[in-house]
Amino acid sequence: MAAEKFYDDDADLSVIQSKKVAVIGYGSQGHAHALNLRDSGVEVVVGLREGSASIAKAQEAGLPVKPVAEAVAWGDVIVVLAPDQVQATLYTEQIEPNIKPGSALLFSHGFNIHFGYIKPAADIDVVMVAPKGPGHTVRREFEGGRGVPVLVCVEQDASGQAWQTALSYAKAIGGTRAGAIKTTFREETETDLFGEQAVLCGGTSQLIQYGFETLVEAGYQPEMAYFEVLHELKLIVDLIVEGGISKQRWSISDTAEYGDYVSGPRVITPDVKEHMKEVLADIQNGSFAQRFMGDQAAGGPEFKELRAKGEGHPIEKVGREVRSMFSWRADLDKDYVEG
Ligand code: NAD
Ligand code: MG
Ligand code: MG
Ligand code: MG
Ligand code: MG
Ligand code: MG
Repeated sequence: MAAEKFYDDDADLSVIQSKKVAVIGYGSQGHAHALNLRDSGVEVVVGLREGSASIAKAQEAGLPVKPVAEAVAWGDVIVVLAPDQVQATLYTEQIEPNIKPGSALLFSHGFNIHFGYIKPAADIDVVMVAPKGPGHTVRREFEGGRGVPVLVCVEQDASGQAWQTALSYAKAIGGTRAGAIKTTFREETETDLFGEQAVLCGGTSQLIQYGFETLVEAGYQPEMAYFEVLHELKLIVDLIVEGGISKQRWSISDTAEYGDYVSGPRVITPDVKEHMKEVLADIQNGSFAQRFMGDQAAGGPEFKELRAKGEGHPIEKVGREVRSMFSWRADLDKDYVEG
């Protein structure tokens, strides 16, 4: 079943322009949404904790900032763009006591609503507008007159206007320039978690580490292993994103293409798909969410241990050395400080 898509002509910008929008959080998504909304003629306030380092950034960009509770009480649409693991506490302590009946709550990821960590009152619209790209791309594309595709869905329609509100918001941040895909909180949450765990982050990181270990254990120089299994991945992925796996296979040598066909299925065997199904089942039955949130509630001991283990892998050390040879490094993300 093909997805339903919506474009600029399907959305009415005046819906969101007639509302006051409080954007809670000014990180990757928060800064992009707030600035794009403002540039689309929407009245925006950014809600931040006292002492937050983001206050100065938002003010420098010319946006009004209020404490979270005041921003919530002021707004008609409350956009929850704090990190997923703090949203439940933020909701109970700051949003729930201050949100006006008839308001809309807007998310960019369905985690807390779908798994029941946030349970809004029945008189509030609950919607999602989720850009399919990092916040910095959402802002950059908007400024260039383009947009990043967005997912749009409604979990609770108290006003009867929830869909119009969400689609109008999607237009204001540039999403319907590229196209909005209609989905549900359940579908967005479960597919997002599965994609990042099985393929994009978990699967890819493990694949790279095993490839690196195999070459280094066989006596090859770590620098060579780094280039072959990590650095070149970007070139391959760029081709896949541009034109599918077919374009990648068209562009590589026949030697590489033949090796792809005969060795890919030897490395990624059918039991990998069985493990993927187990990962999906743990997402669907809530056990991944429970494990993540339980660990976060305890201060993240497992998370910190796993992060330290990942950072300790030898590929990170050789990677830092190899990347220091790249003249274009100075142009890379200024916000990311390599450990
Ligand atoms: P982020 O970590 O970049 O920024 C979080 C912001 O929230 C910061 O400004 C921080 O100061 C603020 N914050 C932290 N704790 C807070 C609190 N207790 N009260 C108020 N503000 C607080 O977050 P992000 O990556 O932009 O993610 C926000 C939401 O967007 C999440 O639901 C995430 O899943 C979703 N999302 C993110 C991306 C992305 O590109 N990063 C893409 C799609 C969806
Ligand atoms: Mg992060
Ligand atoms: Mg995702
Ligand atoms: Mg995600
Ligand atoms: Mg090669
Ligand atoms: Mg070829």
